[in-house]
Amino acid sequence: MTVSEKYVDGRFPVKVEVDFDVCSSNAVCMGIVPEVFEVRDDGYLYVLDEHPPETLRDRLREAVTSCPTGAITLVEDD
Ligand code: SF4
Repeated sequence: MTVSEKYVDGRFPVKVEVDFDVCSSNAVCMGIVPEVFEVRDDGYLYVLDEHPPETLRDRLREAVTSCPTGAITLVEDD
């Protein structure tokens, strides 16, 4: 599959992964990309969309660099 084909459906060709062992549920990522990250009343972070749309790319990268524990990784899709 080519890169252009991956973009046909408007999805950013990465998967959002969170290392829950190091995530401290401080909601920094939720403040940047609430469409993807949500810290709920139970104190846990939930990833709402593992394959977010291209339009969120810049904010996702900001969330990765802003996460104080380095828990967020953007993994290239095959
Ligand atoms: S910014 Fe990082 S540590 Fe904070 S809730 Fe998000 S993934 Fe967890």
